[in-house]
Amino acid sequence: MKKSILYDASKCTACRACQVACKQWNQLPAIKTSFQGSYENPPEFSAKTWTKIAFREHLDEGSERVKWLFSKQGCMHCTDAACVKVCPANAIYHTEFGTVKIDQDKCIGCNYCIANCTYNVIGFDQEANVARKCTFCYDRITTGLKPACVTTCPTGALTYGSRSEMIALANERLSYLQEKGNPDANIYGLEELDGLSMLYVLEDRPEKYGLLENPRVSTRANIWNIIFKPVRALVVLAMFFALWVNKGESKKQSGDSTTA
Ligand code: SF4
Ligand code: SF4
Ligand code: SF4
Repeated sequence: MKKSILYDASKCTACRACQVACKQWNQLPAIKTSFQGSYENPPEFSAKTWTKIAFREHLDEGSERVKWLFSKQGCMHCTDAACVKVCPANAIYHTEFGTVKIDQDKCIGCNYCIANCTYNVIGFDQEANVARKCTFCYDRITTGLKPACVTTCPTGALTYGSRSEMIALANERLSYLQEKGNPDANIYGLEELDGLSMLYVLEDRPEKYGLLENPRVSTRANIWNIIFKPVRALVVLAMFFALWVNKGESKKQSGDSTTA
């Protein structure tokens, strides 16, 4: 059954408890940062930061007051997922919940997914030589638990459930916001990239939150997928063969030098 997380921006206070819960559950260490003129912290995604609250400042129309727009960002778990399309090792795949996961044992650290991710949210773990990103808490949801970020959110800005339930909830909230006098309120994630498992209720246009309007898988990724897929297995085999030959050659050379 397809699952979704609904993020309601109108309920988020940017407390960042979700960021901390993600780090805690997935044992991701904190990283040192410095103030760069924004409360958004850390400034970018990495192998150690899978989700963060984006801060966008806007001048409120009709007044001189600055308005904050917060949004929880990270992997969107796209149906039309560029990362899945370009991965030469078949290490990235759609789970039974419709979410997108990286199989760390299959990842060969080629970085193609990082270069092609539509939302630029994948980090590279240099020590392990693998790509890392939000797992949609696969290890929790398979045991009936909610994702850690959802469980911890104190304001109810994050909700988890079946996709159809989350869409119904989003529509309910949208009607409420519109009735309250907000004509710009909208839902993000219904149609984008054939549907995102991360759904958003926004009070303003997506671009004001730093979210892509009309996201697309790049032509480069699509061409790569069409041309490369049929020969994917051969190329992976060739890579392993090259590594094996290389290893054998190195052993032979070290044997030669010991004898000399
Ligand atoms: S925990 Fe909830 S309220 Fe706090 S920043 Fe995350 S989504 Fe917003
Ligand atoms: S947001 Fe990036 S990493 Fe996540 S599914 Fe989409 S393309 Fe893949
Ligand atoms: S679903 Fe899990 S892995 Fe993804 S952001 Fe939330 S806590 Fe982190």
